[in-house]
Amino acid sequence: MDELPEFPRQVLEVLREPLESRHICISRANAQVTYPADFLLVAAMNPCPCGYHNDGTNRCRCTPPQVERYTNKISGPLLDRIDLHVPVRAMPIEELQSKPDGEPSAAIRARVRESRNRQLQRQAKPNSELSGKELKQRCELGDAERHLLAQAMQKLNLSARAYDRTLRIARTIADMVGEEQINMTHLSEALGYRTLS
Ligand SMILES: [Zn+2]
Repeated sequence: MDELPEFPRQVLEVLREPLESRHICISRANAQVTYPADFLLVAAMNPCPCGYHNDGTNRCRCTPPQVERYTNKISGPLLDRIDLHVPVRAMPIEELQSKPDGEPSAAIRARVRESRNRQLQRQAKPNSELSGKELKQRCELGDAERHLLAQAMQKLNLSARAYDRTLRIARTIADMVGEEQINMTHLSEALGYRTLS
């Protein structure tokens, strides 16, 4: 969904149910039907209506209330259900022209597949499908990691849902590098993906 805040608020809020439960329930006067709705949501938005807010230049002419009105179109509960928040900076032209090619998709695909296989071998399902209880079993944290997560919960004001999602992401980051135990590096990276929370 490109330009996410341009979608009507009620359309965005309807996404909350399937993002959480992977099915959608449609109720009419005399019937209720449940359909599977397991999908990957990828959404993009600008930081403000003109798109230049905080980009290191002073091109943005939006007023603070305008910026707030724009970002407030995405509700907290919807943001909570989005696992990875990734800020993308505009690239200066010199950098765009001098950058070497990135890692090929085929190599990344192999790494993702390996990580997924590791998850299936361990628990017969991908990390994304672990329940809260299963998460506790599969994501045992050391003292330092537990402390970091508790601090982040307070500072970033994270919800219980965001807590679970952060653990799931940390588990997946550990799986991506083939490590059994979630450590501070994995956890810090996972917390770094909650920038909009
Ligand atoms: Zn602006």
